[in-house]
Amino acid sequence: MRIAAFPLVFALSLSDCTAVRQQLGLALISEETELDLGRKLAAQVEKQEKPLADQRVQAYVRQVVAPIAQHSLQDRPGVEYKITVIDDPKQVNAFAIPGGFIYVYSGLLKAAQNEAELAGVMAHELGHVVGRHSANQLAAQYGIEMLAQLALGEDAGKLGEMAAGLAGAGALARFSRDDEREADEYGFKYLAACGYDPRALLTFFTRLEQLEKTRPNDLERLFASHPPTPERIARIEQMIAKAGATGGKLEQDKFKKATASLR
Ligand SMILES: [Zn+2]
Repeated sequence: MRIAAFPLVFALSLSDCTAVRQQLGLALISEETELDLGRKLAAQVEKQEKPLADQRVQAYVRQVVAPIAQHSLQDRPGVEYKITVIDDPKQVNAFAIPGGFIYVYSGLLKAAQNEAELAGVMAHELGHVVGRHSANQLAAQYGIEMLAQLALGEDAGKLGEMAAGLAGAGALARFSRDDEREADEYGFKYLAACGYDPRALLTFFTRLEQLEKTRPNDLERLFASHPPTPERIARIEQMIAKAGATGGKLEQDKFKKATASLR
Protein backbone atom coordinates (compact mmCIF):
# COMPACT_ATOMS: atom_id res chain seq x y z
CA MET A 1 0.00 0.00 0.00
CA ARG A 2 2.74 2.37 1.03
CA ILE A 3 4.75 1.49 -2.07
CA ALA A 4 1.72 1.90 -4.34
CA ALA A 5 0.92 5.28 -2.83
CA PHE A 6 4.42 6.63 -3.22
CA PRO A 7 4.35 7.55 -6.93
CA LEU A 8 1.12 9.51 -6.48
CA VAL A 9 2.54 11.49 -3.57
CA PHE A 10 5.65 12.11 -5.60
CA ALA A 11 3.59 13.26 -8.58
CA LEU A 12 1.53 15.59 -6.37
CA SER A 13 4.63 17.22 -5.01
CA LEU A 14 5.91 17.87 -8.52
CA SER A 15 2.75 19.19 -10.10
CA ASP A 16 0.40 21.95 -9.20
CA CYS A 17 -3.20 21.09 -8.44
CA THR A 18 -4.39 22.01 -11.90
CA ALA A 19 -2.05 19.61 -13.62
CA VAL A 20 -3.06 16.85 -11.23
CA ARG A 21 -6.75 17.48 -11.83
CA GLN A 22 -6.19 17.59 -15.58
CA GLN A 23 -4.38 14.28 -15.38
CA LEU A 24 -7.06 12.74 -13.22
CA GLY A 25 -9.70 14.04 -15.63
CA LEU A 26 -7.70 12.69 -18.50
CA ALA A 27 -7.57 9.30 -16.84
CA LEU A 28 -11.34 9.36 -16.38
CA ILE A 29 -12.51 10.67 -19.75
CA SER A 30 -10.32 10.59 -22.82
CA GLU A 31 -9.97 13.77 -24.87
CA GLU A 32 -11.69 11.87 -27.67
CA THR A 33 -14.73 11.03 -25.53
CA GLU A 34 -14.85 14.62 -24.29
CA LEU A 35 -14.89 15.93 -27.86
CA ASP A 36 -17.49 13.38 -29.07
CA LEU A 37 -19.70 14.20 -26.11
CA GLY A 38 -19.14 17.94 -26.66
CA ARG A 39 -20.28 17.68 -30.29
CA LYS A 40 -23.47 15.87 -29.28
CA LEU A 41 -24.19 18.34 -26.49
CA ALA A 42 -23.52 21.26 -28.85
CA ALA A 43 -26.13 19.90 -31.25
CA GLN A 44 -28.62 19.76 -28.35
CA VAL A 45 -27.79 23.28 -27.14
CA GLU A 46 -28.31 24.61 -30.67
CA LYS A 47 -31.70 22.87 -30.77
CA GLN A 48 -32.78 24.26 -27.39
CA GLU A 49 -31.42 27.75 -27.98
CA LYS A 50 -31.45 29.90 -31.11
CA PRO A 51 -28.04 30.92 -32.51
CA LEU A 52 -27.94 34.62 -33.41
CA ALA A 53 -28.62 35.15 -37.12
CA ASP A 54 -26.40 38.27 -37.40
CA GLN A 55 -23.19 36.76 -38.77
CA ARG A 56 -21.25 40.00 -38.28
CA VAL A 57 -21.79 39.82 -34.53
CA GLN A 58 -20.87 36.10 -34.54
CA ALA A 59 -17.66 36.90 -36.44
CA TYR A 60 -16.82 39.80 -34.14
CA VAL A 61 -17.10 37.68 -30.96
CA ARG A 62 -14.99 34.94 -32.57
CA GLN A 63 -12.39 37.53 -33.47
CA VAL A 64 -12.29 38.77 -29.86
CA VAL A 65 -11.82 35.21 -28.58
CA ALA A 66 -9.14 34.13 -31.11
CA PRO A 67 -6.10 35.70 -29.34
CA ILE A 68 -7.42 34.60 -25.92
CA ALA A 69 -7.72 31.04 -27.26
CA GLN A 70 -4.18 31.27 -28.63
CA HIS A 71 -2.84 32.01 -25.13
CA SER A 72 -4.95 29.26 -23.56
CA LEU A 73 -3.34 26.64 -25.83
CA GLN A 74 -0.19 26.92 -23.67
CA ASP A 75 -2.13 25.42 -20.78
CA ARG A 76 -4.25 22.96 -22.77
CA PRO A 77 -2.97 22.32 -26.28
CA GLY A 78 -5.06 20.96 -29.10
CA VAL A 79 -8.47 22.46 -28.24
CA GLU A 80 -10.39 23.85 -31.20
CA TYR A 81 -12.73 26.45 -29.77
CA LYS A 82 -16.12 27.04 -31.31
CA ILE A 83 -17.82 30.21 -30.13
CA THR A 84 -21.53 30.81 -30.72
CA VAL A 85 -23.70 33.78 -29.78
CA ILE A 86 -27.22 32.73 -28.73
CA ASP A 87 -30.12 35.00 -29.62
CA ASP A 88 -31.73 35.83 -26.27
CA PRO A 89 -31.50 39.54 -25.42
CA LYS A 90 -32.84 39.00 -21.91
CA GLN A 91 -30.47 36.26 -20.81
CA VAL A 92 -27.22 37.63 -19.34
CA ASN A 93 -25.09 34.50 -19.35
CA ALA A 94 -22.25 32.55 -20.96
CA PHE A 95 -21.23 28.92 -20.53
CA ALA A 96 -18.76 26.28 -21.71
CA ILE A 97 -19.54 22.67 -22.52
CA PRO A 98 -16.97 19.88 -22.90
CA GLY A 99 -14.68 19.89 -25.92
CA GLY A 100 -14.23 23.66 -26.42
CA PHE A 101 -17.77 24.74 -27.34
CA ILE A 102 -18.55 28.09 -25.71
CA TYR A 103 -21.85 29.96 -25.78
CA VAL A 104 -22.60 33.58 -24.97
CA TYR A 105 -26.06 35.14 -24.96
CA SER A 106 -26.85 38.35 -26.81
CA GLY A 107 -28.16 39.64 -23.46
CA LEU A 108 -24.63 39.51 -22.08
CA LEU A 109 -23.31 41.42 -25.11
CA LYS A 110 -25.94 44.08 -24.38
CA ALA A 111 -25.01 44.25 -20.70
CA ALA A 112 -21.28 44.68 -21.39
CA GLN A 113 -19.96 48.19 -22.02
CA ASN A 114 -16.69 47.44 -23.77
CA GLU A 115 -14.67 44.70 -25.45
CA ALA A 116 -12.49 44.16 -22.37
CA GLU A 117 -15.55 43.15 -20.33
CA LEU A 118 -16.66 40.67 -23.01
CA ALA A 119 -13.09 39.36 -23.31
CA GLY A 120 -12.97 38.93 -19.53
CA VAL A 121 -16.12 36.77 -19.52
CA MET A 122 -14.91 34.69 -22.46
CA ALA A 123 -11.41 34.26 -20.94
CA HIS A 124 -13.05 32.92 -17.76
CA GLU A 125 -15.10 30.42 -19.82
CA LEU A 126 -11.96 29.31 -21.68
CA GLY A 127 -10.43 28.79 -18.23
CA HIS A 128 -13.18 26.26 -17.50
CA VAL A 129 -12.32 24.41 -20.73
CA VAL A 130 -8.60 24.43 -19.91
CA GLY A 131 -9.38 22.98 -16.48
CA ARG A 132 -11.78 20.44 -18.08
CA HIS A 133 -14.30 21.45 -15.45
CA SER A 134 -17.50 20.58 -17.37
CA ALA A 135 -16.19 17.18 -18.41
CA ASN A 136 -15.07 16.36 -14.87
CA GLN A 137 -18.28 17.64 -13.35
CA LEU A 138 -20.41 15.57 -15.75
CA ALA A 139 -18.23 12.54 -15.00
CA ALA A 140 -18.83 13.02 -11.28
CA GLN A 141 -22.57 13.48 -11.78
CA TYR A 142 -23.35 10.84 -14.42
CA GLY A 143 -20.42 8.43 -14.22
CA ILE A 144 -17.75 7.70 -16.79
CA GLU A 145 -19.54 4.77 -18.35
CA MET A 146 -22.67 6.74 -19.12
CA LEU A 147 -20.62 9.58 -20.64
CA ALA A 148 -18.78 7.11 -22.86
CA GLN A 149 -22.11 5.58 -23.96
CA LEU A 150 -23.63 8.99 -24.64
CA ALA A 151 -20.57 10.04 -26.62
CA LEU A 152 -21.09 7.06 -28.94
CA GLY A 153 -24.86 6.71 -28.89
CA GLU A 154 -27.92 8.82 -29.68
CA ASP A 155 -29.75 9.25 -26.38
CA ALA A 156 -31.36 12.61 -27.22
CA GLY A 157 -33.33 12.70 -23.96
CA LYS A 158 -30.33 12.37 -21.68
CA LEU A 159 -28.17 14.63 -23.86
CA GLY A 160 -30.91 17.26 -23.86
CA GLU A 161 -31.14 17.14 -20.07
CA MET A 162 -27.36 17.53 -19.81
CA ALA A 163 -27.26 20.40 -22.30
CA ALA A 164 -29.97 22.25 -20.37
CA GLY A 165 -28.02 21.70 -17.15
CA LEU A 166 -24.84 23.11 -18.68
CA ALA A 167 -26.76 26.17 -19.92
CA GLY A 168 -27.89 26.72 -16.33
CA ALA A 169 -31.54 25.93 -17.09
CA GLY A 170 -31.65 22.49 -15.50
CA ALA A 171 -30.50 20.65 -12.46
CA LEU A 172 -26.75 20.40 -12.48
CA ALA A 173 -24.25 20.58 -9.68
CA ARG A 174 -22.57 23.97 -9.92
CA PHE A 175 -18.87 24.43 -10.46
CA SER A 176 -16.94 24.09 -7.26
CA ARG A 177 -15.25 27.09 -5.68
CA ASP A 178 -11.94 25.60 -6.76
CA ASP A 179 -13.12 25.43 -10.38
CA GLU A 180 -14.24 29.07 -10.21
CA ARG A 181 -10.96 30.16 -8.68
CA GLU A 182 -9.02 28.30 -11.34
CA ALA A 183 -11.13 29.73 -14.19
CA ASP A 184 -10.61 33.24 -12.75
CA GLU A 185 -6.86 32.72 -12.61
CA TYR A 186 -6.64 31.46 -16.19
CA GLY A 187 -9.03 34.15 -17.35
CA PHE A 188 -7.03 36.91 -15.70
CA LYS A 189 -3.81 35.63 -17.21
CA TYR A 190 -5.19 35.47 -20.77
CA LEU A 191 -6.94 38.83 -20.50
CA ALA A 192 -3.75 40.56 -19.38
CA ALA A 193 -1.67 38.72 -22.01
CA CYS A 194 -4.02 40.08 -24.71
CA GLY A 195 -3.40 43.63 -23.50
CA TYR A 196 -6.84 44.30 -22.03
CA ASP A 197 -7.34 46.24 -18.84
CA PRO A 198 -8.09 43.45 -16.32
CA ARG A 199 -10.06 45.91 -14.18
CA ALA A 200 -12.83 45.28 -16.72
CA LEU A 201 -13.54 42.10 -14.74
CA LEU A 202 -14.46 44.24 -11.75
CA THR A 203 -16.48 46.84 -13.68
CA PHE A 204 -18.52 44.02 -15.22
CA PHE A 205 -19.18 42.45 -11.79
CA THR A 206 -20.36 45.82 -10.51
CA ARG A 207 -22.70 46.26 -13.48
CA LEU A 208 -24.10 42.74 -13.00
CA GLU A 209 -24.82 43.46 -9.36
CA GLN A 210 -26.71 46.60 -10.37
CA LEU A 211 -28.65 44.74 -13.07
CA GLU A 212 -29.49 41.94 -10.66
CA LYS A 213 -31.46 44.40 -8.55
CA THR A 214 -33.82 45.30 -11.40
CA ARG A 215 -33.71 42.12 -13.55
CA PRO A 216 -33.11 39.19 -11.16
CA ASN A 217 -34.65 36.62 -13.55
CA ASP A 218 -32.29 37.54 -16.39
CA LEU A 219 -29.26 37.13 -14.13
CA GLU A 220 -30.37 34.01 -12.27
CA ARG A 221 -28.40 31.47 -14.33
CA LEU A 222 -25.21 33.49 -14.37
CA PHE A 223 -25.35 34.21 -10.65
CA ALA A 224 -26.03 30.56 -9.83
CA SER A 225 -22.96 29.33 -11.72
CA HIS A 226 -20.66 32.37 -11.38
CA PRO A 227 -21.58 34.30 -8.24
CA PRO A 228 -19.70 37.62 -8.00
CA THR A 229 -18.99 36.94 -4.34
CA PRO A 230 -16.92 39.35 -2.21
CA GLU A 231 -14.34 36.54 -2.10
CA ARG A 232 -14.04 36.46 -5.90
CA ILE A 233 -13.88 40.23 -6.16
CA ALA A 234 -11.18 40.43 -3.47
CA ARG A 235 -9.17 37.74 -5.23
CA ILE A 236 -9.33 39.53 -8.58
CA GLU A 237 -8.32 42.80 -6.89
CA GLN A 238 -5.33 40.92 -5.45
CA MET A 239 -4.38 39.55 -8.88
CA ILE A 240 -4.55 43.06 -10.35
CA ALA A 241 -2.39 44.48 -7.55
CA LYS A 242 0.12 41.64 -7.83
CA ALA A 243 0.40 42.01 -11.60
CA GLY A 244 0.73 45.79 -11.21
CA ALA A 245 -1.90 46.05 -13.94
CA THR A 246 -2.65 49.75 -14.19
CA GLY A 247 -4.10 49.95 -17.66
CA GLY A 248 -4.74 48.25 -20.94
CA LYS A 249 -7.22 48.45 -23.74
CA LEU A 250 -10.99 48.64 -23.23
CA GLU A 251 -12.08 49.13 -26.89
CA GLN A 252 -15.39 50.75 -26.02
CA ASP A 253 -16.08 52.42 -29.41
CA LYS A 254 -15.17 49.31 -31.39
CA PHE A 255 -17.38 47.19 -29.13
CA LYS A 256 -20.39 49.52 -29.32
CA LYS A 257 -20.13 49.66 -33.11
CA ALA A 258 -19.78 45.88 -33.47
CA THR A 259 -22.78 45.15 -31.24
CA ALA A 260 -24.98 48.10 -32.32
CA SER A 261 -27.51 45.79 -34.02
CA LEU A 262 -28.36 44.31 -30.58
CA ARG A 263 -29.08 47.61 -28.86
ZN1 LIG B 1 -17.07 30.07 -13.97
